[in-house]
Amino acid sequence: MPSERSIDPFTPRQFARITAAFVAIVIGALGLLLEKGPVEVTGYWRVLMLAVVGFGATYIAVLAALERYIKARLRLLFRLVHDLRAGGGHPVEMDRDVLGQVRETVEDWAHEKRTEIAELKTRENYRREFIGNLSHELKTPLFNIQGYVETLLDGALDDPTVAREFLGRAARGAERLRKIVEDLDMISRLESGVMEMTPEPVDLNALVSAQLSEASGSASASGMRLINAIEGNPRVLADPQRLEQVFTNLIANAVRYGREQGTVEIRAFDLENDQVLIEVSDNGIGIAEEHLPRLFERFFRVGTSRARNEGGSGLGLAIVKHIVEAHGGTITVKSVVDQGTTFSFTLPKAR
Ligand code: ADP
Repeated sequence: MPSERSIDPFTPRQFARITAAFVAIVIGALGLLLEKGPVEVTGYWRVLMLAVVGFGATYIAVLAALERYIKARLRLLFRLVHDLRAGGGHPVEMDRDVLGQVRETVEDWAHEKRTEIAELKTRENYRREFIGNLSHELKTPLFNIQGYVETLLDGALDDPTVAREFLGRAARGAERLRKIVEDLDMISRLESGVMEMTPEPVDLNALVSAQLSEASGSASASGMRLINAIEGNPRVLADPQRLEQVFTNLIANAVRYGREQGTVEIRAFDLENDQVLIEVSDNGIGIAEEHLPRLFERFFRVGTSRARNEGGSGLGLAIVKHIVEAHGGTITVKSVVDQGTTFSFTLPKAR
């Protein structure tokens, strides 16, 4: 089927020119016919001038009428389309295929709308999924707390040992809820740009040492070794508090998903482009390749993740990614199941 675009209609100017030529020919022919007797040379000139004037007058009149007519009709259409696109007015070029221009504009507009609709649908799905995940995350600890409190009220309170045990469990549920809400708050502040980053030169070695010693309690419970393998004193430009959070989350994961008697190691490399590459590695359970692309999504957890029972909110890596990117860095992950995982991220070097 030939496309509509291949039809090449006359432009208003061409149309006016053809009409004017036609009128000029008619005037000329009439003039010649009306010349009585043998035509004199001056008569030819008169006829020619008449034809030229006729051509000019017709050209101007037809063009003006056409332009007026078309512009009046199109203005409305353009205004409608451009108002919807929040654009300004659109000059109609009378030397080009006018309807083609209208079609182009409307097609562009329709394309924009289609893209917008697709984007809105994606966002809507995302929102729906987010709310689903959120209520799922909140439900488990909330129901646990409710269960323990009700059992206590139903009589367990009378047995001090059981009461203490159940209150402890309820408190752990409440702690989990608090963690989820805090993480959510952090994510929404990071995403809306409300959270201000105040980068300053940070001594990476010192910060990592402090973070590792904080994690040493939970690590030693499973006989893990935490190693700061950063050489020298590289300095990065970062918000110290936020950077601490990045390490807290990555180290907590490395310990949580590490192996008993395993190791967690942190290294740093000077890159040439004024960046420092930092790696947090463990030799734990690893992550299957199919899960890696979604790892930094909010609430994403590997199916068999132990986190669910151990208080992970599934938001930790999403927060880490946000913070790294807010500093102008990038984060990637490499992992082999049963061998271990390495998270690598970049930060700007402090001068
Ligand atoms: P969580 O609070 O569940 O740990 P994260 O966003 O920190 O949430 O991590 C998302 C998921 O990625 C975890 O549930 C876990 O399945 C996986 N994961 C993260 N870090 C590691 C790691 N070092 N080794 C293996 N799996 C990991």
